[in-house]
Order: sequence, then structure tokens, then C-alpha cells
Amino acid sequence: MTEISLSALPERVDVLVIGAGAAGLMCAAAAGQRGRSVLVLDHANKVGKKILMSGGGRCNFTNLYTSPENFYSDNPHFCKSALARYSQWDFIALVEKHGIAYHEKTLGQLFCDNKSRDIVDLLLAECRTAKAQIRTRCAISAVRAAEAGYRVETTMGTVVCESLVVATGGLSIPTMGATGFGYDIARQFGLDIVPTRAALVPFTQHKRQLDRQSSLPGTSLAVTASCAEGSFHEQMLFTHRGLSGPAILQISSHWREGQAVTFDLAPDRNLADWLPQRRQQSPESHLHSVLAEVWSKKLVQFFLLRAEITSRPLKQVTEAELQQIGDKLQRWKLVPAGSEGYRTAEVTLGGVNTAQVSSRTMECKTQAGLYFVGEVLDVTGWLGGFNFQWAWASAHAAGEVV
Ligand SMILES: Cc1cc2nc3c(=O)[nH]c(=O)nc-3n(C[C@H](O)[C@H](O)[C@H](O)COP(=O)(O)OP(=O)(O)OC[C@H]3O[C@@H](n4cnc5c(N)ncnc54)[C@H](O)[C@@H]3O)c2cc1C
Repeated sequence: MTEISLSALPERVDVLVIGAGAAGLMCAAAAGQRGRSVLVLDHANKVGKKILMSGGGRCNFTNLYTSPENFYSDNPHFCKSALARYSQWDFIALVEKHGIAYHEKTLGQLFCDNKSRDIVDLLLAECRTAKAQIRTRCAISAVRAAEAGYRVETTMGTVVCESLVVATGGLSIPTMGATGFGYDIARQFGLDIVPTRAALVPFTQHKRQLDRQSSLPGTSLAVTASCAEGSFHEQMLFTHRGLSGPAILQISSHWREGQAVTFDLAPDRNLADWLPQRRQQSPESHLHSVLAEVWSKKLVQFFLLRAEITSRPLKQVTEAELQQIGDKLQRWKLVPAGSEGYRTAEVTLGGVNTAQVSSRTMECKTQAGLYFVGEVLDVTGWLGGFNFQWAWASAHAAGEVV
């Protein structure tokens, strides 16, 4: 399907959408299907780049259990209306209408069976039906309020529109076309930006720590990672630069520089109960060989060393010591050196302050005809398909009224 049309830009459209990502394309399709003339502009060389790279190439396009509790925002109520009016079931119905095969991987996360490209093709097909025009490689130089709308100056010419939809996403992965342009437009029209930070991002560790765990990169284990208000029971992965995996990405949204993250390294059992039982059953067994029933030998060696626990036959370990050992391994504290930042983060926390935006329509309360949809807003989902669901829902809410 052709994404780029080389014909000149129309001088005037009803709706101009900046950003041909998940939210921009969804909004364009919804508005076009209502009979509005729609133009989508993107400075990147192709549409939907983040969709293409998402979900390891299979796009985790929504989550069966999406609810407002899966989102962070200064105003946790803001996302409710849009999520209720365009739910995961609506997007699943669209996926099925296009005959896209999908499956649940885990925890309600729905992925394409084949490729993320299927979702981009779905959006382009919907835009085509809606007669929405799309131009890529189009840089925007200025946005000005004009009589009854906006005048947008671009490298391809000037367009006047009634409604302007900003769908420029967050700051993560600048090499994929991410910019802070949406925040600049918001500021230009007097909106505040909730401070932004990289989220759903791996942790880095200091060289000293990396040297100690040099045998572990590639090893993963189930943990419960907790920090501040957040707690996630998922897999953690040791990498050459630090820690990653779903548990780390999730907890990174709660973590702030300098804070410790607490890990329960054996979240599926209570070691303080289990170790005394194992001692009763096999008193001659060494602590390390009993713990090898929980983790790989490499991990046992590493955890015992880091927690300064000496392995010996269980019969030589007192009840109180077993309690302490259990406590150390189920309350393992670690202060990450930092995060990988926007270079690899999946999303951006913060963004356009929702206090100044209608939760029903996504229109700016103080600037008629100006809309913000998707990740550019201060609404950020957990890992697991929630961020796309927010893009679909917020974009649909605006698409129904622009
Ligand atoms: C590696 C990775 C994997 C991910 N996997 C998942 C997943 O599986 N499930 C999930 O729910 N979420 C996932 N996400 C998050 C998800 O991709 C985003 O939350 C979602 O794409 C946001 O949609 P959006 O339309 O608001 O922004 P985007 O999809 O980022 O689209 C913004 C568009 O605006 C354009 N743009 C930016 N600045 C300008 C400008 N100045 N002028 C013109 N155009 C501009 C960009 O080129 C881009 O096309 C992932 C993110 C990454 C980085």
C-alpha cells in the first residue's frame, strides 16, 4: 500500500493531524469516516514506525484486562472516559474485521501471530476507506491560530484547517522520529507540560556490579520487583549493561534516581517456611543444593555470595538463620546506577497536562479546535499493550468530534 502521495498538499482541510503513528492514523480514520476531509503529516520517512518495532515485531496491540488502573497520570481519572467509549473489545473487533490472526501471550497481552505490519496495514486501510490523505517526509515549520482554525506551514506548503490534532507521541527512541514538537505546540498555546521522563526502560548498573554478575547476562528468573507504590511479579533478565525484562521495565515507571528497588527473588514460595521444611526432610543437604531447586546453580552461587551467606549442611543452620536467609533473598535490595533513558525506553511518562484538555474529546479547554491524542498527553500505560490501547481510545474520542 502506498503511504506517500507526491501530489501537492491541499490548501484547506477540515482536520489536520500531525503525526502518522498509532494515534494519528486512528484519529484520521475515525474523522474521515464521518465525512471530514483529513490530512495526516509526518516528518519521518514512513508511517507507524513504533508500531512496526513494537512487541518484538509482533505488536502487542491491546490488553484483555485494560482498565484505568493500568495508567499513570497526574490525573488518574482522565483516561476513564475515552477507554470506556473505545475499549480493547472495539479494537479487537477491528483486528478481526481485517482478518488479522492474533494470540494472547500472557497476562491478557494480545500479539499479532505474524507481523506488526498487519496493524499498520489495518490503519492504512481504514484511512483509505475514510479518504484520509497521508504525507510522510513533511516537516512542520510553524503552527499559527487563524480565523476559525489553524494555519500550518510545512516544507510542502501551507495548509489551513478547522481542527488541528497533535499526535506526535513521546520522546522515546529519537532515531525513530520522536521529537518534543507536540510539547512545543502545547506551550505555544499556553498549556503546561508535566515533567517528562523515560519509562518502561532497562536499568544500568555500575561496572563493579556488572563485574560481579559477569556470568549472568542472558539469565532470567521470576521476581517481584517493588519500588515506591509499584510492585510487579514478572520475569527479570540480567544483561551486559544491567537489568531488563518485564519486571524491570514495569518498575522503572516508579523508580527515581538513587532509589533502591526491592526484589523478592522467590515470589512463588515463602522461603522462611520452605527452608525449615527442607531441613526436616533432608538435614544432610547443603543449603546451595536445596536452593538449586529454586534457581539455576549460577544464580544460587551469585545470590549466596551477594547476600554473604555461607553454604553448609542444613542441619547446621539454626531456625533463626534460616529466617534471616529467607528474608535476605526475599527482600534483596539494589540501587540501579541509572536507566537507559530515551534511547531505548518504550514510553515517556508525563506530557501535556490533562487538566487543560477535555477527557471526552481531547480538545484543549482554552484553545478551540486544538486536540492532543496518544502518548503526547500525560497518560502512560503499563507494559502489556496498554499504551496502544490508550492511543486507539484517545484518538477515537477526538476522531468522533474533530
Ligand atoms: C521499542 C518499542 C516497543 C513498544 N511496544 C509496545 C507494545 O508492544 N505495546 C504497546 O502498547 N506499546 C508499545 N510501545 C509504546 C507505543 O509504541 C507508543 O505508546 C505508541 O506508539 C504511541 O502512539 P502515538 O501515536 O501517540 O505516538 P507514536 O506512535 O510515537 O507516533 C508519533 C508520530 O509523530 C511523528 N512526529 C514526531 N514529531 C514530529 C514532528 N515534529 N513533525 C511531524 N511528525 C512528527 C513521528 O514520526 C511518529 O510517526 C512500544 C514502544 C517502543 C519504543
